[in-house]
Amino acid sequence: VFDRTPLIAGNWKMNMDHTQGIALLQKLAWTLKDARHDFSRVEVAVFPPFTGLRSVQSLVEGDGLQIAYGAQDLSDQDSGAYTGDISGQFLAKLGCRYALVGHSERRSIHAESDEQCRDKVRAAIRHGLTPMLCIGEGLEQRQAGEHVQYTLEQLRGSLAELNAGELEGLVVAYEPVWAIGTGEVAGPEDAQEMAHAIRAELESLYGEDFAKATRVLYGGSVKSSNVANILGGADVDGALVGGASLDAEEFAKITRFE
Ligand code: PEP
Repeated sequence: VFDRTPLIAGNWKMNMDHTQGIALLQKLAWTLKDARHDFSRVEVAVFPPFTGLRSVQSLVEGDGLQIAYGAQDLSDQDSGAYTGDISGQFLAKLGCRYALVGHSERRSIHAESDEQCRDKVRAAIRHGLTPMLCIGEGLEQRQAGEHVQYTLEQLRGSLAELNAGELEGLVVAYEPVWAIGTGEVAGPEDAQEMAHAIRAELESLYGEDFAKATRVLYGGSVKSSNVANILGGADVDGALVGGASLDAEEFAKITRFE
């Protein structure tokens, strides 16, 4: 039996200072409690900016919340002369469960390569964090009909030389760049097509058991009004939500996706 508990994750991006973050998380926790959210049925996670992680940890631990949290990025190094970077060991110490790796905004604004993503995936694993690897094509590749090929190449490049044992628990987020923050959402068939292709590729790389146990999320303008359709795809195991995760009620609605 392969238990891929659906995961709804909120990427706050560079929004919410630590006081705003606390208010948002508190409101989210109340809203989920009111709705009697069953965390064993749908996992919920948030990705605040680095500066919010300490206060998120205090609130989660102080109030015994079941909401998981993670960082939006991490260094591929563990410590030393890397000014401005944040080590996975610091994140682990703050109770992070996850770290995003290779979000399209990191890939485009900071020119992160697949090779760097692979080193970050390794760093996350070294420190007991679950990497949430983001991949996805741009409009150009989509229009040329090369989206599957392009996205799978990112997948292979970002996981190269790692084995199934090391990657256990990995989460993959398929986020077509043309759908991120644009209001344009991939059709349910598009999301399912790519999630299926990603799972098939994972199977050929790491075997059937690994592929069946690995959660593949969709991200790109997910809202409460479209989430049910998108998560209807058999291979789509959840959503990575940007803009709509900044509104506690809307995000809580997304967690009740059916
Ligand atoms: C994201 O940042 O991962 C994302 C999917 O953003 P949005 O939901 O705003 O498109």
